[in-house]
Amino acid sequence: MKKRIILCFLFTSAFVHAWTHMGSNTYGWKQKKLTFYVNPTHCTIPESELYQRIDNAIRAWNGIPNTDLEIVRSATVATDGDAQFRAKTATQVPLILCSQQLSDYGSVNANAILGFVPYFDENSEGYVHYSGLVLNAQPGALAELSQLAPGEVELIIGHEIGHVLGLGHSGDPDSLMYFQLNKEFLLVTQDDQDGISQLYPRNVLGGALGCASVHQTQTKLPTTGLIAVLILLIVLFVMGRFSFRTEQLL
Ligand SMILES: [Zn+2]
Repeated sequence: MKKRIILCFLFTSAFVHAWTHMGSNTYGWKQKKLTFYVNPTHCTIPESELYQRIDNAIRAWNGIPNTDLEIVRSATVATDGDAQFRAKTATQVPLILCSQQLSDYGSVNANAILGFVPYFDENSEGYVHYSGLVLNAQPGALAELSQLAPGEVELIIGHEIGHVLGLGHSGDPDSLMYFQLNKEFLLVTQDDQDGISQLYPRNVLGGALGCASVHQTQTKLPTTGLIAVLILLIVLFVMGRFSFRTEQLL
């Protein structure tokens, strides 16, 4: 008597993405509406231009599907400055400011770095709660703010905002979060969007009708499958008994 039941379930899933988290962060900021504060003191381009670059960068990150994240720029000028930010006492965070001495933040090459994110602190819940970006306003430095084209400034501010939001560097060369900024204009790609959607997932609550509809669909499929399995088992059982009796007779 031979009974052979072969059941094969093969589930293959591939999750391929190039984006990474900033540090160990997996949650981003707790608030979904995040206000960036700007202190334009020491910045070496006109305030109106600075705000335009920042607003364009912020706009690029807004409107991503499958996330409730909304970034805004504070309408009021930040009073927290360089000293408060470095002392970790700034309350207006995330903060954007300009530094005249990048070495205050450690070994930062002022001839190559236009902007950077010096802090990315998480609280006990795993949410980032202290961060911001520093723009290069160091006199005579090659990468000082006024030395770069407007598009480059916008691109770099957008990239650094991505870090502040919780994204690390991406392996996708097309991504805004790619470690080398070799693009001509700011563009948030699908890879960037995937990272933000993971950090700030949209909270979608189905209504009563939606839930009922989903549940009904889900209960039908297992029932059908269960019946098929039961029929199969009954057939095999009957065949097995027949086979067993045949062997006994032989
Ligand atoms: Zn970067």
